[in-house]
Amino acid sequence: METHFSKEQLKNKDNLSSEKILRKCVHCGFCNATCPTYQLLGDELDGPRGRIYLIKDMLENNKPANEKIVKHIDRCLSCYSCMTTCPSGVNYMHLIDHGRSHIEKTYKRPFSDRFIRGFLSRVLSKSINFRVIVILTRFIKPFRFFFPKRVREMINLMPGKFPKKTLKKMQIYPTRKKKPVARVALLTGCVQKVISPQINEATIRLLNRHDIEVVVPKGIDCCGSLNHHLGKSDLAHQFFRKNISIWYDEYLKNGLDAIISNTSGCGTTLKDYGFIFRSDKDFKKKAEKISELTRDISEYLDANVKLNFIKNKENKKEYKIAYHSACSMQHGQNIHHVPINLIKKTGNQVFDIPDGHLCCGSAGTYNLLQNDIAKKLLKNKISNIEKVNPQFITTGNIGCITQIANGTNIAISAVASVKTSGVFVTTIFLFIAASRSMFPKPTAKLEIILTLSESFEMTSASNFSLREVSIPSHSLL
Ligand code: SF4
Ligand code: SF4
Repeated sequence: METHFSKEQLKNKDNLSSEKILRKCVHCGFCNATCPTYQLLGDELDGPRGRIYLIKDMLENNKPANEKIVKHIDRCLSCYSCMTTCPSGVNYMHLIDHGRSHIEKTYKRPFSDRFIRGFLSRVLSKSINFRVIVILTRFIKPFRFFFPKRVREMINLMPGKFPKKTLKKMQIYPTRKKKPVARVALLTGCVQKVISPQINEATIRLLNRHDIEVVVPKGIDCCGSLNHHLGKSDLAHQFFRKNISIWYDEYLKNGLDAIISNTSGCGTTLKDYGFIFRSDKDFKKKAEKISELTRDISEYLDANVKLNFIKNKENKKEYKIAYHSACSMQHGQNIHHVPINLIKKTGNQVFDIPDGHLCCGSAGTYNLLQNDIAKKLLKNKISNIEKVNPQFITTGNIGCITQIANGTNIAISAVASVKTSGVFVTTIFLFIAASRSMFPKPTAKLEIILTLSESFEMTSASNFSLREVSIPSHSLL
């Protein structure tokens, strides 16, 4: 694509990067074929090619954003499906990030928009703020019908109560052996640690059992992606810098073999820190190191951990599991087969979901800000999941777990770890998202609570017995 940036404009690092991206685009429109919003809305401007033109026009002509541009850019999920389709290697992720930041700087949104986006930015990225809001929401929930639709939908998505924690909060989770085989930092996330601490706990247990020491350094909350995707670059950079400094210090002082993310949305952003700080002389080297160290939990297990799968004679049952490949995992990090293969090793059947490249509508704060489109995407996702008739759904992203659990009664789990007591079985699933404690209404047929003894028990099984669920055919010890 021809570009017309002036020399002066190209002194700006973001313009320079965006110009390179734009020049790669050959207008072919292949990307439209896999864009969820283009498929739903059928408008060229709601597809990647149209959005690329809108961003190009704003940046090249130093134009402030307007209502029309904002509408179409806001409708983008940042699912990056277009990136894995594009034959020319256009980095749409970096371009849309630049576009969003430009919108935030040049466009004054209506008051209600500013208020809601500001609220989400401040509340969701700080776990303490989020906890307070969850508690307050309990009191206003019975009166939610008096609120505008958008607020009402947000209230509906708030968890009813906090799940019970089973691990003591520590900064270092040591291994049983005196000398660990590796030392990793775990990003516990902002929203995740409030609504689903079990995912982090299971990750720690799994790593510890494989003699890997886990560090959760104090001071790290949000990865920064929430504000980054809202176009709030300054706020996002505050999180980025803080995280980079803390992890880099830990890496220098005590050594880190990896930084583990068990939520692919956050992992994608961590892996992008190097690019984000590409021109920052103080942070460039540190940010590159953090990105280099970052691994999704499935990626790390597959490449670095010798997992022993022991045939469990007692177990004869295979489960049908639908694997939902989160967009940030498959399109953002290009990880798709690794989690599937890990799950298959437990002896269960894993099914790809038809049209699995399409987003479930979660996309960070998208299901809160673009509720109508998100609901349509969820409906399509659930209908595709039902086509494979699974007993469980599993995925590697907390946002997708929350979204999908709100649309189906099929139990959904995070790809993590559980060790059952008594039968010595470790699986790579953590059956948590079906828990009533996570969601405002019981959305699944199973409720499984992890206990301190690393066992899990089912408290409200309607379709499965405890024995059936707790014994996958292979164990992982
Ligand atoms: S990121 Fe997703 S929604 Fe946005 S243009 Fe690309 S495919 Fe479409
Ligand atoms: S597929 Fe790639 S090259 Fe073709 S229009 Fe889309 S972004 Fe441009």
